[in-house]
Amino acid sequence: MVTIKSKREVELMREAGRIVALAHHEIKGFIKPGVTTMDIDQLVERVIRDNNAIPSFKGYGGFPGSACTSVNKQVVHGIPSAEVILKDGDIISVDIGAIYKGYHGDSAWTYPVGTISKEAELLLAVTKQSLFEGLKMAKAGNRLTDISHAIQTHAESFGYGIVREFVGHGLGKNLHEDPQIPNYGLPGKGTLLKAGMTLAIEPMVNMGRKEVRVLKDNWTAVTIDGKLSAHYEHSILITKGDCIILTAL
Ligand code: MG
Ligand code: MG
Repeated sequence: MVTIKSKREVELMREAGRIVALAHHEIKGFIKPGVTTMDIDQLVERVIRDNNAIPSFKGYGGFPGSACTSVNKQVVHGIPSAEVILKDGDIISVDIGAIYKGYHGDSAWTYPVGTISKEAELLLAVTKQSLFEGLKMAKAGNRLTDISHAIQTHAESFGYGIVREFVGHGLGKNLHEDPQIPNYGLPGKGTLLKAGMTLAIEPMVNMGRKEVRVLKDNWTAVTIDGKLSAHYEHSILITKGDCIILTAL
């Protein structure tokens, strides 16, 4: 069931979203060659807890980190580690969730480490734009897959692969609520969008093939061809006009 949030619930989700955005703001200037993914995780957790919130992911399904840190061919759910040291030219997707007074915010961003290749730069730019193409369609009166289709069309026009195994989702009191929001598909199908719905839209785009596999740690998803992958996500509120981004400062 897709819930409509009250004004009070939206206010709490705005604050959860602000804290997630603040954590992203902090790590943006922190990510550089020599930093470990554990360093990033600790910074994220500190920002969240300093703002009277709780990391959404820590312990979720047994996940050990406060952030998911996915480097290069890793698509999502990379586990923070003191042994993963970032190098010049890497890209890293950092997914952050925070719970404020019982409500979640969820946002992912892919960051360059030092100087990255032109090809990697394009992947990041296109994946980010595919999120915003989806957000343009996220308004009351449209159907869920209008978002999906806009994302897919943009990313595939560059020859990239859209990940199928992981999707966006509703969120609120729970990190994952109905509906599931695929990043591909024909337009005009699925849930009718209504003002007051809160959704996390999150394209994962591979430079090569769309297929992924999960490593033996049972978390880390990687591209099957070993090529780079990027991930951008915002939590949003559906309105009658343009959606409102909740995971923004
Ligand atoms: Mg996320
Ligand atoms: Mg999410």
